[in-house]
Order: sequence, then C-alpha cells, then structure tokens
Amino acid sequence: MRFDYDDQNIFAKILRGEIPNKTVLETEHTLAFEDIAPQAPVHVLVIPKGAYVSYDHFARDASDAEILDFTRAVARICEEADVEAGFRAISNARAHGVQEVPHFHVHILGGRPLGRMLERG
Ligand code: AMP
Repeated sequence: MRFDYDDQNIFAKILRGEIPNKTVLETEHTLAFEDIAPQAPVHVLVIPKGAYVSYDHFARDASDAEILDFTRAVARICEEADVEAGFRAISNARAHGVQEVPHFHVHILGGRPLGRMLERG
C-alpha cells in the first residue's frame, strides 16, 4: 500500500502552528488537543507529529520511539481525563472509515455512556 501524505491537511497546519488548538498534552513525537466539535464531554484527538496518513500507515512505518511515545501519550490522556468509568478510542481511515482529516489521529471519547460501537445495518 502506498500512503500519500497531504501536508495541507488541517492537522499538519496545527502542527506547524498555522492554526490554533487547545493542547491537552505535547511530547517529543505526539500532540493531543481538544476536538473542535466534541461529541462527548471528553473528546481529545491524539496525533503523531510525523507525517502519517492513517493508523495502518503509522503502525507500519513509524519508528519504535514514535509508537512508544504515542501509546504512552494515550495512557497519560486517559489518566488525566475523566474516563475512569470508560472511554472509546476510535481511528477512522479512508473512505469506508469516513476519515475527514488525512493525518493519523485517535479520538479519545468519554465522560458519558457512549452506546454501542456501531449502528447495525
Ligand atoms: P475524522 O473524521 O476521524 O477524520 O475526524 C476528524 C476530527 O477532526 C473531527 O472530529 C473534527 O471535529 C476534528 N477537527 C477538524 N478540524 C479541527 C480543528 N481545527 N481543531 C480540532 N479538531 C478539529
């Protein structure tokens, strides 16, 4: 699979400081910020600073250091956010996944019961 990264996507602009964001956590390889249109009381987006399009791209091509940093950042966000009662981590990819922003991100959602994972049908 070939992954073509579009550096004009909105998260690339956030990483370059061209668009503001509400940062929750920043580490060497990872940035986490509030979703602009939250779908739950907790709705944080976690993104790598590297140019990866989707989860499968990141999982295949990111360095061990990037993957470790990203994963530990998710743990810190879950610890610091109000998600002790539970949360959902979602990563949409490409057309069938209805991915809007083509820079890999994980949504961390929580703070209320979230219902079933997918609607049937
Ligand atoms: P996805 O459909 O998985 O690609 O999700 C993209 C998410 O990015 C949506 O939940 C949007 O609300 C969110 N989003 C789009 N623009 C911004 C922005 N400038 N700052 C924060 N979140 C954004």
